[in-house]
Amino acid sequence: MAIGGDAPVSVQSMCSVFTHEIDVCVAEINKLVEAGADIVRVAVPERKDTAALAEIINQTSVPIVADVHFHYKRALEAVEAGIHKIRLNPGNISDRDQVNDVIDACKNAGIPIRIGVNEGSIIERKDKQKRMEELGAYFEGHRSGHLLAIMIAKLEEYLDIFEARDFHDVVISAKSMDATLVIDAYTEIASRFDYPLHLGVTHAGTRETGAIRSIAALGTLLANGIGDTIRISYASDPVYEVEDGVELLCSLSMRDRTGIELIACPTCGRIQVDLFTLVEEVKKTLDSAITVPMKVAVMGCVVNGPGEAEGADVAVFAGNKRGIIYVQGERVANVKEEEILDRLLQECRSFEEKIQRGEATLGQKNVEIKPPDPIGELGSGRDKIDSGDVEQITIGKT
Ligand code: SF4
Repeated sequence: MAIGGDAPVSVQSMCSVFTHEIDVCVAEINKLVEAGADIVRVAVPERKDTAALAEIINQTSVPIVADVHFHYKRALEAVEAGIHKIRLNPGNISDRDQVNDVIDACKNAGIPIRIGVNEGSIIERKDKQKRMEELGAYFEGHRSGHLLAIMIAKLEEYLDIFEARDFHDVVISAKSMDATLVIDAYTEIASRFDYPLHLGVTHAGTRETGAIRSIAALGTLLANGIGDTIRISYASDPVYEVEDGVELLCSLSMRDRTGIELIACPTCGRIQVDLFTLVEEVKKTLDSAITVPMKVAVMGCVVNGPGEAEGADVAVFAGNKRGIIYVQGERVANVKEEEILDRLLQECRSFEEKIQRGEATLGQKNVEIKPPDPIGELGSGRDKIDSGDVEQITIGKT
């Protein structure tokens, strides 16, 4: 597979288990691949880890990256084992000859090297103060200031080593735990260097906090055309990293969906069913049952639901303990709340079969969805207005 150029943006993750435990490692890689990972990285801190690589590569279907820290020999052993890419921080290997040996080995094997200049590894360096003095005016007034200057300078220094060996099969990363620094660093790097970029927010935390930080940074960069491969990192099961990375790319239309796209209303005072539970159940059921990338909308009422669900292939508008189901704008059922899930699944399945037979097209709307009279059979906020529970506001009149 390719990274950069016209290649699609790829999703990466990193194994959280020991690489030398081959069966466990292979099982995790396969789980990540099933979730949508294109590339998987493994740590190789010890000889026994690189010794496991050949078998791991043999038993898996995606490119495997060896993450090398401190021990250049691990990189050489990984190349020998047939690894597909090396991740290296030249700042962690002080001997230039050793870095050159790794570059030469990768060049001979025809495999790329990712050069990572994480904020953490840079600010730990002894020359931090000196560098900051040297580069003090470099990014004066910039919100990420000296730190950004140091990252760029370090990267230039590392790239010099690679370019001196006429090695250009390089991917660059410059991660930080600070989303704004990540945006600034990659934006600056993209304007200065012509190498593919691996995006990531490092040490982002749990999925709950890390998702927002990661999506804010990576989404901004990707939407601006920056980034060739991404890793969202959480202090959690790496499968979540892949799921969220895939969802990010799908949301930005950078990857085709392989299952349903769920649209759900946030609910409001008009709600008359347990929508949160219904949405969870719909997602769980349809995720495993449907493979066609249809849009499915689950809306809490018929007042705004039809408008909000416009464009959905299959939609349910719930209210007054019932659900009205539409397929591409055509009303097909009106069922009790407890029957919504089964009927929705049935309609999604039959719509999927129609798509597969070529009898329907995704995204087509056959009939204009018009919400029923809100005072009609389903009930709505109107009864609350009438009963005085909520105040009706008429816009434009005093
Ligand atoms: S669809 Fe209905 S219940 Fe859901 S947010 Fe919109 S108005 Fe409220």
